[in-house]
Amino acid sequence: MPAVASKRDYYEVLGVDRTATRDQIKHAYRQLALKYHPDKSRDPDAAVKFRELAEAYAVLSDDTKRKEYDTTGHAGVSERWSADDLMRDFQFGDFFGGRFGDLSSMFGDFFGRRMRPGAGASRGADLRYDMELTLEEAARGGEREIHLTRSEKCTDCGGSGTKAGTKPLSCPDCRGSGQKQDVKMRKDVRLVTLTTCLRCQGRGQIIESPCSVCQGSGYRFLPHTLKVKVPPGIDEGMIIRLSGQGEANANGGPSGDLLINPHIRRHPTYERHGADLYMVQSVTFPDAALGRTLRVTGLGGEALQVAVPSGTQSGTALRLNGKGMPKVGEKGKGDLFVVVEVRTPTELSDRERTLLQELAKLQ
Ligand SMILES: [Zn+2]
Ligand SMILES: [Zn+2]
Repeated sequence: MPAVASKRDYYEVLGVDRTATRDQIKHAYRQLALKYHPDKSRDPDAAVKFRELAEAYAVLSDDTKRKEYDTTGHAGVSERWSADDLMRDFQFGDFFGGRFGDLSSMFGDFFGRRMRPGAGASRGADLRYDMELTLEEAARGGEREIHLTRSEKCTDCGGSGTKAGTKPLSCPDCRGSGQKQDVKMRKDVRLVTLTTCLRCQGRGQIIESPCSVCQGSGYRFLPHTLKVKVPPGIDEGMIIRLSGQGEANANGGPSGDLLINPHIRRHPTYERHGADLYMVQSVTFPDAALGRTLRVTGLGGEALQVAVPSGTQSGTALRLNGKGMPKVGEKGKGDLFVVVEVRTPTELSDRERTLLQELAKLQ
């Protein structure tokens, strides 16, 4: 691209070494920007030089962009970042303590594109989806279908929002900048207020003949069915991210992501703590004292046996190794704990009463 190739080297523009520190770059930029600011300088090329400086500074003051420039030069930078991207995080006015507040229009025409305030989001919005699961479903995992409504780029107009054969017009109220400027002089200080243009709502463009399918919005809300892989053992707080399955981007950028939040329903028998499960099993006082084998059911319906040793106290947790929930991203499973609850009899037969009284005498 000849336009790119004819650009001056950014280091040369700022008059610094390729090894210059951030502070040296900042210092050089400040000096030169004050010198060439079009409001101050008599140099006929001041405006061009000033813009060149600003662009050089925007790239070299940002570590990522500087690195890209060092490796690939102008071509790499202009391929990877649009003019909007280069200038987005960079408030030139602020740099000088607000002294030069009125620079946006200048950068707007320099790059031949409007700087769109508020249009910084180059991706569609992320969507959240709450997925309800029973504890059994969370343990099993596997594929689940979900239904949701999300915005999609309108296929009739390709997302432009305009009727076939027509084009959006540059907004006449803000001349395509998306912003309205209100300039007031107060004691020699020029106060510039920027507000979003009401006519085009900051887009800089107006659509005279909107696409009849999407009414000019560029996207439509459509119901969708998606298949989601749920990892076995999923728990609250874990998020399944499906990239590119969120909202479409009205400006033609990539879609956002779909974030799936699992909600695990309470189980009547099992209580979950991470990968471990707890269940309460009541035993009689003689069983706790003498010991016995209990039959319990695991979460998946598996018949299990657990030995209650003689002399087990109420509240003791007996462990069944590997009978809990699967561990996400790891091999193996948690454990199942059977919490023993010793039942004290409330209604005694005559015989039971006699036996207990005899027992009491022995203790
Ligand atoms: Zn459309
Ligand atoms: Zn406008």
